[in-house]
Amino acid sequence: MTRITLMTTLSNTMGFLEDHLKRSVPGAVVTTWPEEGALDGEVVVCWKPPAGVMATMPNLRLMHSIAAGVDNVLSDTALPNLPLCRIVDPLLGKAMAEYVLWGTLYFHREFDRVSTNARNGHWHRYDQVAAADKCVGILGLGTLGIQAATLLKSVGYKVSGWSRSAKQVEGVEVFAGDAALDDFLAQTGILVCLLPLTPSTVGILNADRFARLPQGAALILCSRGEHLNGPDLVASLRSGHLRGAILDVFDKEPLQPDNPLWTEPGILVTPHMAGLAKPRVIAEQIAENIRRLKAGEILLNRVDPALGY
Ligand code: NDP
Repeated sequence: MTRITLMTTLSNTMGFLEDHLKRSVPGAVVTTWPEEGALDGEVVVCWKPPAGVMATMPNLRLMHSIAAGVDNVLSDTALPNLPLCRIVDPLLGKAMAEYVLWGTLYFHREFDRVSTNARNGHWHRYDQVAAADKCVGILGLGTLGIQAATLLKSVGYKVSGWSRSAKQVEGVEVFAGDAALDDFLAQTGILVCLLPLTPSTVGILNADRFARLPQGAALILCSRGEHLNGPDLVASLRSGHLRGAILDVFDKEPLQPDNPLWTEPGILVTPHMAGLAKPRVIAEQIAENIRRLKAGEILLNRVDPALGY
């Protein structure tokens, strides 16, 4: 028997996961917290689990996020010292890369300005800049950052990336570590954020960082809302230093209808849609990790809680 506890508020995904895990994990008994028996689970499948609950589960052996990011799990300061895994969906990576390419074209080919002009019946043709003369800088060269960089490169953009550790990505100029961040920003015309949310990256997009970008740079935020200092972004846009921003993620979602970001000139809001993992992929990866746990094999997509990703 394998006792699995579902812990989340995302009821649609969870219904699918429950059915799939019952069918694919031999002897699965699936309970949803806070139903009776939920605290007996050996595996927790979660998104924003209630803080402190997993620490009270005596049989727990594996914590599994249903998302690529695990900040929603690691925010529980009483988390037990047990393996934590996340989802890595190649199709999500492809969708994210498409979103980043679209956002890059939006600024590079002036669609931000042209769409405003079109609403005002204003005919104006801007100078064309070659993709090779546009530098797209990606904060975070992990699973998603590398896929986005590769697609941008294939279209002809000059691409650079920033990661914690040094690495080689073909055709991409890599800047590593805090000491290299200013140099990375100084040559970035379109800044894409694909960092995980950790204590080192929270609030990283702030006035100081914006000031280091060249005049007229743009931002594409598709990681987590907490990476961004919103008032700093608005000030930077209003001063004319930054040209525009596409924001896909927010610290409180959904973004409320009266939030001023919706109507701030230069900002385009999208509804956390850049890359979505398919429920079937989520279910299959969790089922595979449960099989590995039972067989004593190495788990897939394990997170380092000390690093936070
Ligand atoms: P990964 O864990 O694969 O990659 C993270 C990257 O960030 C790595 O290159 C890592 O460096 C780098 N990094 C982490 N901390 C630092 C730091 N302090 N300084 C410099 N670089 C750092 O993550 P993914 O690519 O899978 O996902 C990234 C994030 O995207 C997720 O955490 C999630 O928040 C977000 N996301 C958003 C979605 C959306 O629809 N908007 C969908 C899915 C995910 P190194 O390589 O050296 O370890």
